[in-house]
Amino acid sequence: MMTRMRVIQVIFFEVKMNNCIYCRQDKEVAKFSLEHVIPQFLGGSQAPDYLKTRDVCKDCNSNLGLFVDAAFEKDFMVFNQLNETAYSLFSPTLFSGLPFRCMGISDLSPPKMKDDEACEYWLGPLGEQVFWIRPHDEQKYWYSGGNPRTVKKIRSRAYFMFSERTLKAPQISWNAFKDAFCGKKVDKIMCTQVQGADPKSIGFTDATELDKERIEYFHSYCSNGQELKNRVAMYLDFDVRFLAKLALGIAYVFFGKSALLGGEAEELYKALWMKPDDPKPKIKGAGAHNQSDHFLKEHCGIDYGTTISLIPANGFVALNLNINRKLNWVISCADFKQLKQCQIDSLGLGKSFVLIKPLSKFVELKLEELLAFNGGISNIEELNVISGQVNQHRDFFKNL
Ligand SMILES: [Zn+2]
Repeated sequence: MMTRMRVIQVIFFEVKMNNCIYCRQDKEVAKFSLEHVIPQFLGGSQAPDYLKTRDVCKDCNSNLGLFVDAAFEKDFMVFNQLNETAYSLFSPTLFSGLPFRCMGISDLSPPKMKDDEACEYWLGPLGEQVFWIRPHDEQKYWYSGGNPRTVKKIRSRAYFMFSERTLKAPQISWNAFKDAFCGKKVDKIMCTQVQGADPKSIGFTDATELDKERIEYFHSYCSNGQELKNRVAMYLDFDVRFLAKLALGIAYVFFGKSALLGGEAEELYKALWMKPDDPKPKIKGAGAHNQSDHFLKEHCGIDYGTTISLIPANGFVALNLNINRKLNWVISCADFKQLKQCQIDSLGLGKSFVLIKPLSKFVELKLEELLAFNGGISNIEELNVISGQVNQHRDFFKNL
């Protein structure tokens, strides 16, 4: 008698795994996405591919972007310095839009504002004013524009008011208004009568009865010439997690996984995942609030952009982050003990990356070239061309 054998075929699917450089968890490759090690708000999308990696999981990419990158970007000082770059490079002919400047939380209490709301005050390029009534978050109190997650979820209302100068260059106001609050759940309400143009075409909504009450309140406040008091919230550790993340990311793309091992890297990881009450990690470095070294601030940057430098120092590679030569941070990003001698040698005296986001520019140069350029000793053609465009049109605003 023949026995029929049933052949069971077992197929093993091999699930490819990868390890995330930030959370250090093994996850399926499909759960990873492209990470700009230099974030896009600093101009990182222009950076070459070797400054990007796919070894960051999607969770880290989105959560750290929202809470670590944004905590840094939305800090009052950083936010307004980044905006300054856009103003320095403004050209009336190549005009794409100028950002509103955040002036902090105002002491106004417009009608029917709730206890858990704040009225944030913003100024436009021509003195336009915005009163934005939005949810106030105790935990993310220092974010210009509030907690990004709450702002995406809860609808808020922003009241826009033209200035007298708006009428002299209405297109500038119009473009700035169009860009402001783009992609946020914000109802935009125009407080000024606009003739010959339809505010609805750039996303404004009709005023409700409550809006009309509030518009009257804002108008009476402004016409009385009362002094507006704004509070600027500062969180002294806003930069710790961001700097640690940047240091780990840059160390990884430059030197590979070994740079993420060892005691110093472990402190960077503690800093990256630090909770408000955790003990301070032992990282070498200095933040913008604690800046004793003016040399780095003045020499390791440019006036109109972000500069990141890698500088071999005493036993470690220092990462220097400079914005507009106004804000400077330095942090130890890799321990020599974790690197090969050829990796340290490849840095020479140091490497610098200049990023000018409004012009979509990325320039890589040796640290000594940057120092010579800032000292007026040598010319760098690419930076000269950009310098030529800086502040060319400051008078345009003065003469309006
Ligand atoms: Zn991760």
